[in-house]
Amino acid sequence: MSTFTQYMHPKDELLATMGRIYQYRMTTTSGGNLSIREENGAIWITPTRVDKGTLRREDMVFVGMNGELKGLHPPSSELPLHQEIYRARPDLRGIVHAHPVALVAFSAIHEVPNTSLFPKAKSVCGKALFAPYELPSSVELGTTTAGKFTEGGDCVILENHGVVTGGINLGDAFQKFETLEFVGRTIIKGRQLGEVRFLTPEQIELANTRATMLLEFKRQPPSSLEKELRRRLCEFVHRAYRQRLFISTQGSFSVRLDESSFLITPYQVDRGTLDPEDIVLIKNGRCEAGKTPSRATGDHDAIYRHHPKINALINASPINATAFSVTSAPLDSRTIPESYCLLRQIQRVEYGLQYQDHEALAQRCSVDQPALILENDGVLVCGGDILEAFDRLEVLESTAEALVDSRSIGELAPMSEKALRGLEVTFLQM
Ligand SMILES: [Zn+2]
Repeated sequence: MSTFTQYMHPKDELLATMGRIYQYRMTTTSGGNLSIREENGAIWITPTRVDKGTLRREDMVFVGMNGELKGLHPPSSELPLHQEIYRARPDLRGIVHAHPVALVAFSAIHEVPNTSLFPKAKSVCGKALFAPYELPSSVELGTTTAGKFTEGGDCVILENHGVVTGGINLGDAFQKFETLEFVGRTIIKGRQLGEVRFLTPEQIELANTRATMLLEFKRQPPSSLEKELRRRLCEFVHRAYRQRLFISTQGSFSVRLDESSFLITPYQVDRGTLDPEDIVLIKNGRCEAGKTPSRATGDHDAIYRHHPKINALINASPINATAFSVTSAPLDSRTIPESYCLLRQIQRVEYGLQYQDHEALAQRCSVDQPALILENDGVLVCGGDILEAFDRLEVLESTAEALVDSRSIGELAPMSEKALRGLEVTFLQM
């Protein structure tokens, strides 16, 4: 995970990570702080009272092994929190602390979000615990929170305050932070739709049994078409990340290269920092040597084999559509013509089919049924090309958001049968 940080200076890593957190409104300009611990125990930490919108690499503060400070500013006032956690957990090398809205909501009701909402969230976040209130910036806040990390916590909700996550590096701590916030937001959205469904340990295990080991083949030098598609796929993955249709740990995107091969995103590479070289070529069900493709590869492979007109596929977890995936509320596309024409009747797939039976899943997806809700696993959309699939994903998310919002102002009045027939005759050639 987070290989992008391997050659980055700690100052740049802190800057890039804070940029992501601030840009996605997962903290305010005054709240939140990050640190990295060096091999020898020295710490790099974000400064106190510097506007997060204009933070620079030279603003980061160095705290030596004996506590000596180097930098243009004082360190974050939460330095004791970071120091106590590192003391308690020598395995941790990166810490994120912030006040993201959904986790603040949980901290204000004194609860921890249940990560058994998605098959991957529990393994990404690890153990999530709750720490009682202490004064911000105090040593007591540090020792109390560190106690929860000693108990094996990887994410700790701070009572009436926010959250702290720790990782084997800063990228790992960030992924835990972003994934826990995503779980929290989905639970909150889902509750607006009805009862939220959580997974049993057996159901989570089902996702882990999904085969990831494909036979390998030695690839030939890439064609110009392959290079072009790698670049485009990567651009759209970044766009999906920026638009919050993907998060760093969730989302798979593939594009067909020819009748026997396609390109797909890799397993466990941060979606926000993906490079064209990371993309994996799959040919006749085999994987190019030395790479690990997304765990959705078997599903995508089956869909491409069954449906020659489908040329791009996306598994994603945009927040509003995903809220429908964790409840039994119907996602009705009969809201406006654009939604109905692009999404048609949205299919709901029972949890687990995507891991157990790729061929059966492929039967549920087609150009006439181009959008699927996968229970507790987000959505799957297809398209004739990358742009069409991406557009469909955006329309799906906008439709879901409009449906969630409409609930607070009235009851959904779907488009009439006559209006739908008109669309079918004019735009859908049925
Ligand atoms: Zn704080």
